[in-house]
Amino acid sequence: MATGKINVSVENIFPLIKKFLYSDHEIFLRELVSNATDATLKLKHLTNIGEASVEYGNPVIDIKVDKEGKKLHIKDQGIGMTGEEVEKYINQVAFSGAEEFLEKYKDSAKDSGIIGHFGLGFYSAFMVAEKVEIITKSYRDEPAVHWTCDGSPEFTIEPADKTERGTEIILHIAEDSTEFLEDSRINELLNKYNKFMPVPIKFGTRTEALPKPEDAPEDYKEETVEVDNIINNPNPAWTKQPSELEDEDYKNFYRELYPMQFDEPLFNIHLNVDYPFNLTGILYFPKLSADLQVQKDKIQLYQNQVFVTDNVEGIVPEFLTMLRGVIDSPDIPLNVSRSYLQADGAVKKISNYITRKVADKLKSLFTENREDFEAKWNDIKIVLEYGMLSEPKFYEKAGAFVLYPTVDEKYYTLEELKDKITANQTDKDGKLVVLYAGNKDEQHSYIAEAQDKGYEVLLLDSPIVSHLIQKLEADNENLTFVRVDADHVDNLIKKDEEKISKLNDEEKEKLKTTLEEIVPKATYTVQLEAMDSTAAPFRVTQPEFMRRMKE
Ligand code: ADP
Ligand code: MG
Repeated sequence: MATGKINVSVENIFPLIKKFLYSDHEIFLRELVSNATDATLKLKHLTNIGEASVEYGNPVIDIKVDKEGKKLHIKDQGIGMTGEEVEKYINQVAFSGAEEFLEKYKDSAKDSGIIGHFGLGFYSAFMVAEKVEIITKSYRDEPAVHWTCDGSPEFTIEPADKTERGTEIILHIAEDSTEFLEDSRINELLNKYNKFMPVPIKFGTRTEALPKPEDAPEDYKEETVEVDNIINNPNPAWTKQPSELEDEDYKNFYRELYPMQFDEPLFNIHLNVDYPFNLTGILYFPKLSADLQVQKDKIQLYQNQVFVTDNVEGIVPEFLTMLRGVIDSPDIPLNVSRSYLQADGAVKKISNYITRKVADKLKSLFTENREDFEAKWNDIKIVLEYGMLSEPKFYEKAGAFVLYPTVDEKYYTLEELKDKITANQTDKDGKLVVLYAGNKDEQHSYIAEAQDKGYEVLLLDSPIVSHLIQKLEADNENLTFVRVDADHVDNLIKKDEEKISKLNDEEKEKLKTTLEEIVPKATYTVQLEAMDSTAAPFRVTQPEFMRRMKE
């Protein structure tokens, strides 16, 4: 037997990285801004623990497009690199300086928010650039260096005359990637990926009006100044403690997330755990429109304040994908496929945690202000009913707050409802009969009849209601749901002798035959007894089981 070593030639790797490292070329900017952020956060950490004796100041990451020169500049005031460090961190593909830093400063740096992971981010620059330069000066008193590489494995490194601390990355944008020389495109990317990153990011300047002085003359002409155009909010609401935030802060953050959304959210859920995994975030229950399809994919997933995706499938239980908001967790493995994600134990724990947290919040909203909860019920019921059907963990908790509205807008929990109907609403097997209507207008005569007898009639009109009923019946043996217009109701609602039809037997037979020619006998039953309260001459009913079969 012989053993050997596969010879990986660097020459072959570059084109591969360029093509396959990330499917989305645009993420190069996210990676480079992440590195600039890491460099800044590292310096912050080192000054905090007294290892760097430099002025931290108010560092900014500066992005510039040089359309004529076909260059994109990303400049930071972070930790910088010495010549040796460039050799170590840049020239070794897949060596992560971020991981090394976290390893070295283990305990003190675990909350520093350092982003880097795999030591590959920097090379994503070659997906859009034909040549990349690094001009960098370490915070240590060492000479600046200039590294250049044109995408082949050869690079040059030489002294540079940069005097201020930090790193500037210059991308010479390739012919097929000139879209990244457009201000609008860069602005779009910064807003997508970097909107909530922890270090201020400057992209050009903008004009701002000065406040009007109090003693301004009548013909006062507004004065303006040029200010840095900072594209991000470095301290988004989800990174704060719930105790620091008022209702209004949550609403403001919703507007920040969805500037084009005019409806206010119904309520929010602040997620905040650090054991056994790290996860923060804020979820909002939006006012749902009838078109649920459009509503999906509104939760944004972040890792250390860097936007990753708005496809949270597998991480958030499916019934909650109709919510909005953000989730931020460094513990979600994102380099793996979606199907793996769903099977991954850690991810399942996250999903279960979110389910539990949402259920707890709903319960406290219900107990703290039932009236308000009832008022919102119609906007949230579809999510909750779907949750009861799809997540056993949610179903277990839902009994405490899921409501069953009646046609006249009273809201009962299932337990309250049972108490209401024990007295007089049982079928021949002694089961409690829950009468419900699916449509108030179409079934109004039946509803009136049942109400006349003193029965409560629920209004259950969501599209998934038949599934929900099946589940409730399966779990509550002594309960049976019957729609008010099912013939089964007759067993429950005793007929009023006096109001029975005045037709004689012959006339009845004739009417019945005529009617049965019109309605298919197999699925409907014609009943000639006049409805008492509504005085309808006859009615056509359908057995509950038949109706359900069709659904
Ligand atoms: P990762 O961020 O996962 O560690 P990258 O390939 O993105 O890997 O970067 C490799 C390393 O290069 C970083 O860990 C860091 O040590 C160094 N580096 C990259 N960009 C900068 C920068 N702007 N300032 C200082 N160091 C940097
Ligand atoms: Mg990186």
